[in-house]
Amino acid sequence: MASEEDCSGTAENGFMLPEVKFTKLFINGSFVDAVSGKTFETIDPRTGDVIAEIASGDKEDVDLAVAAARDAFDDGKWPRLPGYQRGRIMMKFADLIEQHVEELAVLECIDSGKPLLVSKLVDFPSVISMFRYYAGAADKIHGETLKLAQELQGYTLKEPIGVVGLIIPWNYPMLMFALKVAPALAAGCTMIVKPAEQTPLTALYCAHLAKQAGIPDGVLNVVTGFGRTVGAAISSHMDVDKVSFTGSTETGRVVMEAAARSNLKSVSLELGGKSPLLIFDDADIDMAVELARQAVFFNQGEICVAGSRVFVQEGIYDEFVKKIALSSKEWIVGDPFDPRVNQGPQVDKRQFDKILSYIDHGKREGATLLTGGKPCGEKGYYIEPTIFTDVKDDMLIAKDEIFGPVMSLMKFSTVEEAIQRANYTKYGLAAGIVTKDLNIANRVSRSIRAGIIWVNCYFAFDNDCPFGGYKMSGFGRDSGLHALEKYLKVKSVVTPIYGSPWL
Ligand code: NAP
Ligand code: MG
Repeated sequence: MASEEDCSGTAENGFMLPEVKFTKLFINGSFVDAVSGKTFETIDPRTGDVIAEIASGDKEDVDLAVAAARDAFDDGKWPRLPGYQRGRIMMKFADLIEQHVEELAVLECIDSGKPLLVSKLVDFPSVISMFRYYAGAADKIHGETLKLAQELQGYTLKEPIGVVGLIIPWNYPMLMFALKVAPALAAGCTMIVKPAEQTPLTALYCAHLAKQAGIPDGVLNVVTGFGRTVGAAISSHMDVDKVSFTGSTETGRVVMEAAARSNLKSVSLELGGKSPLLIFDDADIDMAVELARQAVFFNQGEICVAGSRVFVQEGIYDEFVKKIALSSKEWIVGDPFDPRVNQGPQVDKRQFDKILSYIDHGKREGATLLTGGKPCGEKGYYIEPTIFTDVKDDMLIAKDEIFGPVMSLMKFSTVEEAIQRANYTKYGLAAGIVTKDLNIANRVSRSIRAGIIWVNCYFAFDNDCPFGGYKMSGFGRDSGLHALEKYLKVKSVVTPIYGSPWL
């Protein structure tokens, strides 16, 4: 880990911070102030300083955005364009994001605290390729031909579901934007996006690029603001046909309740996780150590699929503990603009305080602090990569999603025990398995109740690979062609065959 000085988060390493050009709501193709005229501050987690004042939307602004999206859906050309043409416009949108990637990546970095290189080399290439993937799918949305009894013939149409509300969190601001906006656009929906209050900058910038690409006014609206105002207004709106939400399990429940109390809109939820990483005795131990380190500390530990419960089989446990302790000391925390840095600051003070209070709780519960456990740097929201050993399954640090760089390390004996303890959680988002034994890999993969299982890898995402939750990690799949289905409705059309008793 970096020294105190390295971890101070003050160095800007020669980067010119960009001017923030887009700070207003994007409704019906124009940037506008909130009706109330109110704004809120988005802050730089390296320092706690204000980056910009952002328009703070409320119910009235959501009403305007929904009215624009409704018109664009009911009477506009986007849902009626041939899929091929929607795809071409989406390709242009992807090209524009690519052309502006330097500026976008810096904005994402100062707003969220993620390392600039990760943003530029991992997040944005995924965002761009995701728009291209769904652009290519836009003209491949097919129904079925039905051969019915009673001398009827029928077919199904897959139609866009309508106006969709897309509510996203702050840990992957642009990637979450792409995961939801790209399939919704491809399906022919119109939409209102609500970025997280902590990270509004890149979504607003992309709204401007969407207009340049030729996405018609009213199709993509961005309403910045808070969950209790903007988010609540979207999920309870009578004219919104679907909400696709990514965030915490608690808020997911509130969104679902609001949908149930209003117009019974369709809901899909990508929620929290407490994913297990299971390392077996036959594993390549160096590979396992590196996977574990990445699985918990990458993106400041602010990852829904983080492998935050690491189970190691007893034969290699002691060696693993030694190696992971050394390896976490080489994990550099510091200014996200510094190319040597692996881990930037946590997104904001609230998240920083929450993680530290879990660390305190872990110590009080009797877990042993192997490494880390403290904030670092003189300002900003930096936390050392932290590892606890002697963690019991019932401790809070083993049960709750901490959403920070905190690993719970546990020992197990048998494959059965590993499966049973891995499943001992209310969540079911992801799991990792490290073994050379195909029989163990196959057996454990099928026994773990989670939406994605990584064998001898972790965070191996691909546009074509669906992911989403089991249990209280939610339902509905992002990524892959499955995600398109969330934004489509199936309509059956039935007609009698000439000469049948119907005619
Ligand atoms: P959060 O508090 O649930 O917020 C997520 C979004 O919901 C934000 O835009 C938030 O607005 C909004 N929101 C808050 N209250 C709302 C309400 N009453 N109605 C409608 N929307 C409301 O989650 P977070 O702390 O930002 O993000 C971290 C959580 O997201 C973690 O639990 C993590 O596991 C989960 N996550 C899951 C996935 C996945 O794919 N499964 C991916 C990433 C993150 P504000 O701007 O006011 O916060
Ligand atoms: Mg911010």
